[in-house]
Amino acid sequence: MVKEKHRTERVGWLRAAVLGANDGILSTASLILGVASAHGSRRSIVVAGVAALVAGAMSMAAGEYVSVHSQADTEKADLELEREELRSDDIGEHKELAAIYVARGLNPQLAKQVATQLMAHDALEAHARDELGISDVLAANPMQAALSSAASFALGAVMPLLVSMITPIDLLMFVVAATSLIFLAGLGALAAYAGGAKVLPGTLRVTFWGALAMAVTTGVGALFGTKP
Ligand SMILES: [Zn+2]
Repeated sequence: MVKEKHRTERVGWLRAAVLGANDGILSTASLILGVASAHGSRRSIVVAGVAALVAGAMSMAAGEYVSVHSQADTEKADLELEREELRSDDIGEHKELAAIYVARGLNPQLAKQVATQLMAHDALEAHARDELGISDVLAANPMQAALSSAASFALGAVMPLLVSMITPIDLLMFVVAATSLIFLAGLGALAAYAGGAKVLPGTLRVTFWGALAMAVTTGVGALFGTKP
C-alpha cells in the first residue's frame, strides 16, 4: 500500500530545526555586532559569541524539554481521564463520539454507526483522536526535542561565530552582518521550499527581520559602547 506523503508531516521537524538555526544565527550575530560596535576587542567579541552559542543552546534545550514534557503530561492525564470515562460510562461515550461526527457533518444514523464501529476497534484511540485531538500518543519525546533544538541552535550560532574569528577586525561587522543575512535567507528559502510555500516571500520575511534585529543591537552597542 502506497501512503500519500503530505508535506505537513515533514515540515514539522524541519521547521523546528530551521527555526532553531535561525535563532542561533540571528542572536549570535546580533550579539557579536553589539559587542563589535561597542569597540570590543576580538577576544571579547569571540567570548560573547561563544557565550551566546552555549547560553542559547542550553536555553532552547531547557525550554523545549519543559514545553514538550508538560504537553506529554497533559496528554497523559487527558488519556487517563478518557480511559476512566470509557470504563464508567460506555453509553455516554458512544453518544459523545457520535455527536462529534454529527457536528462534523455526518447524519445522526451514520454517526452512530461510525462511533460504534470505531469504538469496537479501539475506543480509547477513537476518543483520543476525535475528541481530544491526540493523533499519536507517543509523538512527544521531550529529550529528543530538547537535543535537536539545542543542536540546531548551535549549528546556526557557529556560522557567525566562525566568521567573527577569521575576518579582519576592521571588516568584521560588515562581513558578519552580510554573511548572516545570506545564511538566514538561505534557510528561509529552504524552509519555504520544503514546506511547498512560495520561496521569495519566506526568504524576504526572514531577511527583513534579521536585518532589523542586527541593526537594533548594533545601534544599542554603539550607544552604550565606550569610544576609544
Ligand atoms: Zn470521550
